[in-house]
Amino acid sequence: MRQPITPDDSLRAPIRRVDTYLVDLIPERPRTDAIQAFTKQETIFVDIETDDGMVGTGYAYTIGTGGRAVLEMLRNDLVPLLVGQDANQIEAVWQKLFWATHGTAVGAITSLALAAVDIALWDVRGKSLGQPLWRLAGGARNSVPLYDTEGGWLQLSTEELVEGAVTSQKQGWPGVKLKVGKPRPEEDVERLNAVREAVGPAMDIMVDANQSMTYAEAKRRAHLFEPLDLYWLEEPLPAEDLGGHVQLAASTSIPIAVGESIYSLSHFREYLTAGAAGILQPDAARLGGITPWLKVAHLAEAFNVKVAPHFLMELHVSLAAAVPNAIYLEHIPQLRKIMRTEIEIVNGQALAPESPGVGIDWDREAISALRIG
Ligand SMILES: [Mg+2]
Repeated sequence: MRQPITPDDSLRAPIRRVDTYLVDLIPERPRTDAIQAFTKQETIFVDIETDDGMVGTGYAYTIGTGGRAVLEMLRNDLVPLLVGQDANQIEAVWQKLFWATHGTAVGAITSLALAAVDIALWDVRGKSLGQPLWRLAGGARNSVPLYDTEGGWLQLSTEELVEGAVTSQKQGWPGVKLKVGKPRPEEDVERLNAVREAVGPAMDIMVDANQSMTYAEAKRRAHLFEPLDLYWLEEPLPAEDLGGHVQLAASTSIPIAVGESIYSLSHFREYLTAGAAGILQPDAARLGGITPWLKVAHLAEAFNVKVAPHFLMELHVSLAAAVPNAIYLEHIPQLRKIMRTEIEIVNGQALAPESPGVGIDWDREAISALRIG
């Protein structure tokens, strides 16, 4: 029988303690799209401490449901497997946890739980090496163009949309995203037209349907949107409808963007091989962490496809900066209440933090005060 070869013990960073907790963050403003309202961000935290006293923090989120299920999965199923593992072998730990929970993977709750662990391990790695995430994970560049979603929610009036877009433009931001999916297509067109007229041809306008449409309806609306020179049409159809995306991508000149509702590397592969998406929007929390996020970004690169991560700008700024094929970072400030310093934005670009680890400056007192589990 083949004997396993033991790695050098002196390079191990055994995990000695893992803490998990939950915080509810109420959004600063109403956020509504075609299928849902973002009522609260259930933020699930994992702190991992190694034998040498290094502590890394990871997190995941939901937009209102399932947070306690993620916390329970961590406490019951994942944390007991972590103690004693080598924090430097992130891939080995990830695979161990994934296969140990295979009866519920791939699935949203398991992916979110895995993500919080994986991000904590990357935080440990960065702090141990004294390197920020953007350098550690590839180091393509230290800044990423930013587009704003905060001024584009579906409940906002046309006047408010225009005001939001013009404000972003004055700040030097290169893009804005508007939610679509009003009951009548003409309403969507009227809102988009008003914004395009206000900002002129040089600003990127993305639109997001949040999976609300059928193929037939998406094809119809994409046709109506064509003259507006949109940068992308995001989640026109349910993420499960790969065939619909293939047909839609072939029927419109507007690039199709997907990814925030895709939970595995192999599901992204399906989209890429089928030519079903022109832009990918991987979300490190929903995918199971930084480790699979980087795989998706590199896979996209092999297909000559760009990535623009979904949400989580405080983390994704560093990942987008790490890879060569990220085009945009999404601006939705959501951690303000529990961070001591915010992301730096210069000339419409978000700067990746230089502090070691994942670079989020958590406000521990604020987190403690908001803990609900
Ligand atoms: Mg979206």
